[in-house]
Amino acid sequence: MGKLSITKRITIWYTVFLLMITGCVMAVLIYTGNLRASEAAQEVLMESVVDASEEIGRFGGDFVVDDKLKFYDDGVYISIYDGNGVLVEGRSPQELSGTFLEFDDKEIRKQSDEAGEEWYVYDSLFEVDNQFVWVRGIVKDFADRSAFSFVLRMAGIGFPGLVLVAALGGHIITRRGFRPVRDIIGTVEDIKSDGDLSRRVSIEKEHAESRDEIHKLAVTFNEMFDKLEKSFEQEKQFTSDVSHELRTPLAVIISQSNYAMEDEEYRGKALETINREANRMASLVNRLLTLSRSDAGRLKLEKELVDMAQICNMVAEQQSIAAAEKSIVIETDIEQDIIVNGDEAMIIRIILNLMDNAVKYGREGGKIKLSLSKEGGYAVCDIEDNGIGIAPDDLERIWERFYRADASRSEEGSGLGLSIVASLVKAHGGNTQVSSNPGEGSCFKVYLPLAGN
Ligand code: ADP
Repeated sequence: MGKLSITKRITIWYTVFLLMITGCVMAVLIYTGNLRASEAAQEVLMESVVDASEEIGRFGGDFVVDDKLKFYDDGVYISIYDGNGVLVEGRSPQELSGTFLEFDDKEIRKQSDEAGEEWYVYDSLFEVDNQFVWVRGIVKDFADRSAFSFVLRMAGIGFPGLVLVAALGGHIITRRGFRPVRDIIGTVEDIKSDGDLSRRVSIEKEHAESRDEIHKLAVTFNEMFDKLEKSFEQEKQFTSDVSHELRTPLAVIISQSNYAMEDEEYRGKALETINREANRMASLVNRLLTLSRSDAGRLKLEKELVDMAQICNMVAEQQSIAAAEKSIVIETDIEQDIIVNGDEAMIIRIILNLMDNAVKYGREGGKIKLSLSKEGGYAVCDIEDNGIGIAPDDLERIWERFYRADASRSEEGSGLGLSIVASLVKAHGGNTQVSSNPGEGSCFKVYLPLAGN
């Protein structure tokens, strides 16, 4: 059974079930049919015997039987005996000729012949002109001649036919019903063999209209393929971005070291450049490591109670030097006693990355506002600048790895800062929000759950 398809299993199940039902119905029909037939045979027998008795008269001391009486009619044999049991006239079935049957008034008895066939025998004693006369009727148990036997024969042919039609029809319907499942299997196998993730399961109209389970299954599969394709594309993009990012500093390092080997005078400057590029690479590799760890869920948080006000003040202080270079003023509005249960180094990284961006993309002579407050069980850190802002199209994508809005391409940066912010915030059970107007400035909000929440 285990190796059979669902379609076959269902078909077998209801075919057996139908066969059992029709079998039961047939058995009941045969039983009641036989019962009725026997009753009918007995009725005919008794009637014939009474009818025959009316045709008997006496003439000169002997019994005479009217010519009208048929000794064999409608399957019933009639024979007439005098009071002593001597046959006057009549017919008996040949099959019972060897058997002597006692007379028994008004009792229907069963008698089997040598071939095993059943007969009904009915005797009745009458008085004709003060003389007793026996009338005996014998009839075969004619179950197979009854109208029922016709019905039974029809049922015997019709029922298996019906079961066959039901089995075939059901098989076709279930096979058709499962076609989308076979489609899905086919699509998955195709993808497995050629790796083409753009394939989709086709959804038939009837399933789309009825929105049945099959439709849901196909839609879910397609959604899964969408996701897989997207993440596969992102992965490809990521790998190509990583190699691109690493290629530039590597090329610089190689060319600078070549110069250094050839030109002794230039060596000092070359080493400086090499050192700067190597540091850039190291920082890039570190960021990538953080991201890949958080992706794999392996980012280890060294959790402790962290005073957010302290961190915000510290980061604002640290950024003030870089901000001063662009004549940017950092304002703070920091609420005290906001404690978060998290990894201090990572929380610093989150705020630092956002503040770093605010300075980087802030306007010369502009200002940055760093606020800290509580809101519904969360510590909310709000970093607002009045810099270049972000176009609506870019706004959705800035959290992606290596994504950098075009306008800022020339600025220093790898496009990893915000993706690191997003994954660190997520690891802390928090979330981020951004709003921005191009040319007016941006506002980044970080929500981190308060300790004890
Ligand atoms: P990057 O290293 O380029 O700063 P990020 O992931 O930190 O990478 O930021 C992604 C992009 O989002 C940036 O290139 C920039 O276009 C945009 N962006 C981030 N912060 C700001 C901001 N405060 N103002 C304007 N644009 C921003």
